[in-house]
This record gives sequence, C-alpha cells and structure tokens, in this order.
Amino acid sequence: MIEFNWEDIKALGQSYPARLIGNKNLISSASALKQPDSEAELIIIFRSRLGRIFRGGLVFIAGLLVTALSALIPVIHFILVPLCLIVTLVATLFAGMNAKLIAGGQGTCPYCTAKVRIFQRRWTAAFIDRCEACSKQFEVRSLN
Ligand SMILES: [Zn+2]
Repeated sequence: MIEFNWEDIKALGQSYPARLIGNKNLISSASALKQPDSEAELIIIFRSRLGRIFRGGLVFIAGLLVTALSALIPVIHFILVPLCLIVTLVATLFAGMNAKLIAGGQGTCPYCTAKVRIFQRRWTAAFIDRCEACSKQFEVRSLN
C-alpha cells in the first residue's frame, strides 16, 4: 500500500473540487432514483515546460543506456537494438507530454459516506475508483 498522508499531498499541488458519482443501479432502495453523488477534492500537480523537457531528457538518456547494453548481447541484438530505440523514443514523448498529474485526493463515498482516498495517478477528467469500505465503484469527475 502506498503511504497516504493528506497534508503532504496537499502541499504538492493545487486543490480542485471533484464529484464522486455513484451508479444508481448499485443502490438497492427503490426511492433512490437519482444517481448518488458526493463532494471530493483532488490535488493536481502542474509540470512546467522545462520540467517536462528535463523528465523527457532523463528517460531518453536511460533508454539510450539500455540500448547500448542490449548491443552487447550476441545475435538477438539485431532485433533488440532497433526495438530499444523505438521504445526509448515513445517513452521520451510520453514522459514529456504529461503536464498534469493527480497527486491524490479525498472525498466521501456516495454510497456509504465513508472517507474515500484517491491515490496518485495520471491526470484524466474522469476515472473510475472504488470505495475501500463498501467496495462499490464510482466515477471521479474533476470540476476544473
Ligand atoms: Zn462506500
């Protein structure tokens, strides 16, 4: 389990409101026709252009080192070297592209009102997560 210290996570980035939206089919009560939802907070880290170039550069150098090492392996280096070069280029682009990162988040479960923790992940406007208390799924929708 990743360590989860809310105060540390809050210090990393900017806080944005989010909503946790439950699936109405998971609610047993017939009176609950409305999709249950609750409030949450996401901490988002913004990477500067320079930071992204730096990260991409580090990945590129690491990839070239692996490629150089793979050239030492007899026979299969004919396949391994070009493959490593392609992987290095793709990984460099991906490392340089991620401008936003979700450092973490917290909210209330829309079903059981237990406290929900959201762990670090790549930024997307909406994603599916699961309550640790009742293990039901909900959608996390960022409002920023
Ligand atoms: Zn729950």
